[in-house]
Amino acid sequence: MSQPVVRAAPEGKPGTGNIELLDDFLRGLLPRQASRGHLVHVEVVPARQARYADPDPPLPHVIQEALRAAGIARLYTHQVEALTHARSGQDVLVVTGTASGKSLAYQLPVLETLLRDPEARALFLFPTKALEQDQLKSLQHLIPWGSGIRAEILDGDTPAHRRAQLKERVPQILISNPDILHLSLLPHHGAWKTFWEGLRWIVLDELHTYKGIFGSHIAHVLRRLHRVTACYGSRPQFVACSATINNPSEFAGALAARTFVRVDDDGSPARGKRFVFVNPTGSPYGEATDLLLHCIQGGLKTIAFAKARKIAELITMWAHQRAPELRDRIRAYRAGYRPEERRAIERGLFHGKLLGVVSTSALELGIDVGGLDACLLVGYPGSIASTWQRGGRVGRAGQEALIILIALPDALDQYFMRHPRDFFARTPEAAVIDPNNRRILSDHLVAAAAELPLGPADAALYGPGLAERIAELGAEHRLMQSADGGEWYARRRNPARDISIRSIGEPFAILDEGGKTIGSVDGFRAVHECHPGAVYLHQGRQFEVTALDLAQRKVRARPVEVDYYTQTTGEKETEILHCQEFRQVKDTVARLGRLKVTERVTGFEKRRIFGQDRIGSYPLDLPPHTFETQGLWFEIPERIRDHVKYSAPGGLHFMGGIHAVEHAMIGLFPLFALCDRGDVGGISYTFHPQVGRPAIFLYDGYPEGIGLAERCYRVLEDLMGHTLRLLQDCPCETGCPSCIHSPKCGSGNKPLDKAAAVLSLRGLLGLLDLAEEVAVAGAAPAALPAGFPRRLGHSNASGASSTQAPRVLVLDLETQRSADEVGGWDNCDRMGLAVAVTADLATGEMRVYIEAEVGALLADLSTAACIIGFNLRRFDFGVLRGYRDLDYAALPALDILEEVQASLGFRLSLGHLAQETLGAPKLADGLQSLAWWKAGQADKVIEYCKSDVELTRRLFEFGRTHGYLLYRDYRGRAVRLPVRFGEKILLSNGRLGYNPSPQGGEQIGRQ
Ligand SMILES: [Zn+2]
Ligand SMILES: [Zn+2]
Repeated sequence: MSQPVVRAAPEGKPGTGNIELLDDFLRGLLPRQASRGHLVHVEVVPARQARYADPDPPLPHVIQEALRAAGIARLYTHQVEALTHARSGQDVLVVTGTASGKSLAYQLPVLETLLRDPEARALFLFPTKALEQDQLKSLQHLIPWGSGIRAEILDGDTPAHRRAQLKERVPQILISNPDILHLSLLPHHGAWKTFWEGLRWIVLDELHTYKGIFGSHIAHVLRRLHRVTACYGSRPQFVACSATINNPSEFAGALAARTFVRVDDDGSPARGKRFVFVNPTGSPYGEATDLLLHCIQGGLKTIAFAKARKIAELITMWAHQRAPELRDRIRAYRAGYRPEERRAIERGLFHGKLLGVVSTSALELGIDVGGLDACLLVGYPGSIASTWQRGGRVGRAGQEALIILIALPDALDQYFMRHPRDFFARTPEAAVIDPNNRRILSDHLVAAAAELPLGPADAALYGPGLAERIAELGAEHRLMQSADGGEWYARRRNPARDISIRSIGEPFAILDEGGKTIGSVDGFRAVHECHPGAVYLHQGRQFEVTALDLAQRKVRARPVEVDYYTQTTGEKETEILHCQEFRQVKDTVARLGRLKVTERVTGFEKRRIFGQDRIGSYPLDLPPHTFETQGLWFEIPERIRDHVKYSAPGGLHFMGGIHAVEHAMIGLFPLFALCDRGDVGGISYTFHPQVGRPAIFLYDGYPEGIGLAERCYRVLEDLMGHTLRLLQDCPCETGCPSCIHSPKCGSGNKPLDKAAAVLSLRGLLGLLDLAEEVAVAGAAPAALPAGFPRRLGHSNASGASSTQAPRVLVLDLETQRSADEVGGWDNCDRMGLAVAVTADLATGEMRVYIEAEVGALLADLSTAACIIGFNLRRFDFGVLRGYRDLDYAALPALDILEEVQASLGFRLSLGHLAQETLGAPKLADGLQSLAWWKAGQADKVIEYCKSDVELTRRLFEFGRTHGYLLYRDYRGRAVRLPVRFGEKILLSNGRLGYNPSPQGGEQIGRQ
């Protein structure tokens, strides 16, 4: 929010100046666009009147004079509110609109303090150098003349001798960025002693930009700042400013480890706006060129924001070609301009020399485009916050602004084109960070220890897990314990140097052919973005990678000008390491936990920038890449899968369906968090071995995670609902880039099935009318004996059609064929029964059934009060389905594997559970059993099957008696897994059966 200070707050009624011009223009534009079928929506955002207030007590006279000289007659209400809170000693967070004069919210209290106390110091932090420059200018207008207060910039461009002078005589206001704080001020804190001692204020502007990896680092840089200031006896107050986000207080608190008082009642006037949504049927860039010229020729000074430099240049070129007379009046405006150059362009616009500017979005921060009438957004800027940030700056003082959003064929763009009201109604995205990212936390703990030794007192700042983290770092010899054991030191000097706060992990250097560094890339992205042949974009310029050296972490590249981009292809898989929580989400269960993701890049494709046509594909030979991160996953219940597979004539493609759901959900997730779809990864499985059924995984695309998966987990119902709307509303028939195609898909957007995706989502959201499960009529069970569960009814010799108390049966079976032989586990109905064994839970009596006796087996099962098994529903019943199509789902059955999975989030084998819980090994495995069967040794198969029934029975009894089973977790620790077997086979009416959700309280079966 750079410059509002120097412009007078408009007096009188805002928004009267150019309304006629705009309305005339729109009157001409609307029918034109509508006739082309492009116009989607026009929203009139009314102007807002200014509200003023006066500080009490008043500001020092000299500040009042400086304000007047800068053209500011009165202060807005939010500026005064912030001042009042700041004066009372609170940490203040200002969340108001673009150009609302947020800078004064921190400048005024800081200047007041500095006038009173010449020893006091302030640190202003900005995310970019351009903003530092803007701030310095703004302060120079406001610092009372002759007050002796100095404001100076310290950043990467400050020469060494200047740096030394600054250290010698620290200015009252030091303007800098988090990088300098992290690399210079904190590690060398001793050299800045007087600065720390006098530090009273810390200003964090553009707070919302400190999100993701960068923000997770900043959170730790600020924790280190707290330690250093405490060491010098100061406790500076914070003033932070943020654009409107979903969770400002929570976010600021997580970032700065302070509690902020929030000021969000914006007293500044806002220009009225006409917001137009255009959804072109042809090229959006052609449409943008057309609209740019139309605006300029209609007398509106216009800025167009394009997403890439190449596109900005093309639009400029096309505009020049079509209107040669405007050649000198329309300019491209790029990243990398110096402040003087930016000011020259701004002046050109202001004085009417320039009529149009085409800019890349990199300039969102730090450009003052207040002299413009219209803003074209070529493509949705990715978030509501940045849309307003760009559009909100346009409009001359006292005049209204026109904003035109031209949609690209991307999911988010198209979502808002179909739901334009949602854009104006919905809450903005959340900013998320994860200060607990283990890698970031560890690195900064070591840096902190190098600045000041770590001790028990630091737990206040880092939380109760600190001791454990320190012990781990000690074991890695990154921290060393003092002789008396009371403190921890960093082993190496200046470890902060090795931490890049804008990335994670050790980066790869990118060198040009002469060996000069042109940039760096995060290690985990190198194989995707910098494989040999990749076109790499750096500050809008294209480079082709000629070599990738994984061992040396170096990339060689040469500048090129090409009209294609590259995209890797390959495969990935994930393993669940740990489930931290789960919850019911409509008709599925979602889980959040730690994942291990393995990616194999096997090749890449070249695609045209315009049109995305594939030019060619090329193989790559690279080692697999593995990382651990946070993720969420949800199952697709079998009944939904079966419905998708068999509902339509000929069936739908289930894998194509869930793959499409994954793509579309990732595409829309940026509605909920400030991020890019590339920040989130996804994998779909028709069968995940740990989940035991179809599942979709979504995860943080960064090692250790940055909080995105967790946010996604919290808003999952909403995200699913929006995704379904997107798919249903998209007019395409079989899928397109606006709905289910992903520009990042490693398998080339194959297979995808839009209809199956819609059906799957409807099923997950509980909108499908799947047939209710009908109970199988069994014998009327007798009343439960009082002693349950010690004795479960009487022994029963004949089994079937008993009129006695119904029996609880433990079941296991072996098959004739393997899953491979029948084309996968999905086809277990073709595996054929070799032998089945049941055991009566009460008497222990076992019965053996061969294939010819399958009828007797089914009769026994359908009259049982409950059937207990391991992987019973999916496997045993699946095999039996090949013989008779009973309503197996309705049988009262306790599947221990399902219970385990519901409690843990993933599956464990019978062998693992039996070994850990009972200390009893399995006799053999399924493959051995198949081999015996094929060798004609049926007796061995029967013996093995009996032993598995016995293990299952003992596991059940153990769980019923103790209330838990035992397993070994990912760290090899023996862990209790709670189960409620006893309650689950007792129905609420006192009978035996299977009760999937027992009420709490009854402690049946526990001693
Ligand atoms: Zn579509
Ligand atoms: Zn894909």
